[in-house]
Amino acid sequence: MSYVFPAPARPILAVVGSVDVFPIHRIYCVGRNYADHAMEMGHDPNREQPFFFQKNPDSILPSGGKFRYPEKTAEVHHEIELVVGLDRGGTNINASEAIELIYGYAVGLDMTRRDLQAKLKAKGRPWEIGKAFDNAAPCSAILQAKEIGHPSEGRICLEKNGMICQNGDLADMIWKVPEIISFLSGFFSLLPGDLIFTGTPAGVGPVSRGDSLCGFIEGIGELDIKVI
Ligand code: MN
Repeated sequence: MSYVFPAPARPILAVVGSVDVFPIHRIYCVGRNYADHAMEMGHDPNREQPFFFQKNPDSILPSGGKFRYPEKTAEVHHEIELVVGLDRGGTNINASEAIELIYGYAVGLDMTRRDLQAKLKAKGRPWEIGKAFDNAAPCSAILQAKEIGHPSEGRICLEKNGMICQNGDLADMIWKVPEIISFLSGFFSLLPGDLIFTGTPAGVGPVSRGDSLCGFIEGIGELDIKVI
């Protein structure tokens, strides 16, 4: 058997301190996982189960990359997020066992066409057009959990053109990483290579061509992107 055309290359993340790379299967994203961000978007942070959407694996843009301002939008927002990478899968995982699935952690940006997302939300329509466009998932190299353990606190921040615009702490996540994995695995069969963007703290805002974005998570790493 052979493919009828050459199969596209599998999207990857670099691995910190290794020549080997992390092959990406799917990208899941959690919505509204920090109370201050839920409130800035006009939602009550205390009343919601976690919810999810997906991005396309080939939306990944590595650190140092150029984020091409997307089409059909006048309002693209940055959302700095902790990214979790899995090297094991499963279904109906208990939260108490969930960390065994984790390969490592990275710094990601959930780039969002906010104007289009707002229109979709208002009509009760799916979010793909707002969330799953080309280059919509800038992400740093992944740092192995065996090197650093499983961080439950630490500063998460984003600078735009050298000015801090998002500034939070992983300790303020409403749903913790093991709970997210457990919840998600009840709806989807998780597989090695899955990435989970775990939500953003307050301070989301617009980017423009020419902007430099520098994301940082204490103990995890940095992500640098230029908007063109
Ligand atoms: Mn997000």
